[in-house]
Amino acid sequence: MAPYRTFLKRHVLWVGFIAAFLPLLALMALQYNSLVKLEAASAYAGEAYLKNFLEGVFDRVLYFYRGNAERVLSVPPSYLVQGNSHKIAWHFRKKEVEGASRLFVMDYTGAKDRLWYYDAASVSMLPSNRQAESRSVFVACAPFQLMSRKGTNLESPNLVVDEKDSDNYMILYPLTNDDFQVVGVAGMVVNMEYFRTRLLPEVIGETLDKYFKDDPDLKPVVKVIDPVDVTAYESDWLPDVAHGVSRYFPWIFSHYRLVVQSGYATPEQWARSNFIVNLSLSGLLAAVLLGGIALAFRAVSRELKLSEMKGDFVSNVSHELRTPLASIRVFGEFMRLGRVTDSEKCEEYGEYIETESRRLTQLLNNILDFSKIESGAKTYHMEPCDLRVVLAQVLKTMEVRNRHSGFNIHYERPDDDFPELRIDCEAMAQAFHNLLDNAVKYSGDSRDISVGLERSGGKVVFWVEDQGVGISRSEQKKIFDRFHRVPTGAVHNVKGSGLGLSIVHHVVAAHHGEIRVKSEPGRGSRFSIILPTTEVM
Ligand code: ADP
Repeated sequence: MAPYRTFLKRHVLWVGFIAAFLPLLALMALQYNSLVKLEAASAYAGEAYLKNFLEGVFDRVLYFYRGNAERVLSVPPSYLVQGNSHKIAWHFRKKEVEGASRLFVMDYTGAKDRLWYYDAASVSMLPSNRQAESRSVFVACAPFQLMSRKGTNLESPNLVVDEKDSDNYMILYPLTNDDFQVVGVAGMVVNMEYFRTRLLPEVIGETLDKYFKDDPDLKPVVKVIDPVDVTAYESDWLPDVAHGVSRYFPWIFSHYRLVVQSGYATPEQWARSNFIVNLSLSGLLAAVLLGGIALAFRAVSRELKLSEMKGDFVSNVSHELRTPLASIRVFGEFMRLGRVTDSEKCEEYGEYIETESRRLTQLLNNILDFSKIESGAKTYHMEPCDLRVVLAQVLKTMEVRNRHSGFNIHYERPDDDFPELRIDCEAMAQAFHNLLDNAVKYSGDSRDISVGLERSGGKVVFWVEDQGVGISRSEQKKIFDRFHRVPTGAVHNVKGSGLGLSIVHHVVAAHHGEIRVKSEPGRGSRFSIILPTTEVM
């Protein structure tokens, strides 16, 4: 169990990330799968929708002709008895039919077959005066004539369409007597003009409205093509017709084709574009989720790293405090017990105690400042200040310690007309001190340090240069982060809080200045603080 726990603890972030990422991946895969299925289904649905539209038009045309024909052609057979023709005429008059150019009755009851046409003006049945049309009627009725001759039983007479003559489409209804024998035929010649100019526009317009009411932009083009491939009817014209479906009319006008064409996309293309939109949305969602997860993990990992650094910080600071305190205590004891009689020694120990206390104060100042910076309570009091004085004081406080450890600090003084700046003297002194302290700490075996103040291009530059351990390029970016300490090499022998440079950075930024580092591992470092002179008094 224990190894697993250690593993989990160590890789908690990765484990967490994978635990969140895997279900997301599975979800994405499922989503993709269902989108692929949806794409296929959508394509069928799109095609089916157009086909349904066709059926809708067919139904209405069929209903119109059947309904009219059934109503008007059901002439009572008794009216065929000679002398009753006016009754037939009144029957037709009463029923008032639409869409027919002529109504007629073929009478097989007499010795000779007679064809009567309905004359609406005189409300009477008249013999035909149109030879071609009459011929067509005789031909169309021929099967019923045969039945009548043969005395065939026709128990359930039906409407029959005859389209042999392309100019005269007819709907016929056999009239039978009580013995179910054909005694005549009532019929109508269909009005082609009416079909073309009134029925089709009305039926197609209404069906389009019904089917595409919610999506008027998707309205298709509808055409009716006649048997010789001439367009008998066409709805709005669209420039680019992408695809379509077409079918022949059922029952009447069975040689006419109804074509529905969508100007937008094939159902497949439409489904594909839907698929792409859906997939992109899902992808976007997943990306946002992943981004969120990554951000959360980054925050957690930073927090973990920070808490690790804080741990190191506490141990480093304790060490930094313990050593000088122990020395101070020992020297203090010596003096209290009167063991130090020599005035020179006494001065030396006193100096030592003073230096170490200053260092401790400096360390505590850093910690206090850092806490103020973190809580946003750090304020700067800008006042006219001579940087030469500030630097001289800092060097003085470090002098004893440096003398003891054999450091040789070379100070390149500026010209006499060095300007006063409006700065926070104490904060700047702390920044100088931190840089100098680092130069000493990270000098390794070298004992040469140079510092300088100079004017350069309208700016003031303070610099510290050592010949010490140096800093690699990748670390140079990180050393100004709080708690960061270069983790490897000769540096790790030196104790420190990891706060010094982050405070320098903050102080310099508050003065609208810039801090630069130039360093090479093993060859030393040069830190420069560049301050603007706009603040010069
Ligand atoms: P510390 O208390 O550790 O010195 P700082 O913030 O002052 O904290 O410095 C951060 C890190 O930068 C140091 O731990 C050290 O690794 C590196 N560093 C700073 N100054 C120098 C220098 N002059 N030479 C080499 N490394 C340096």
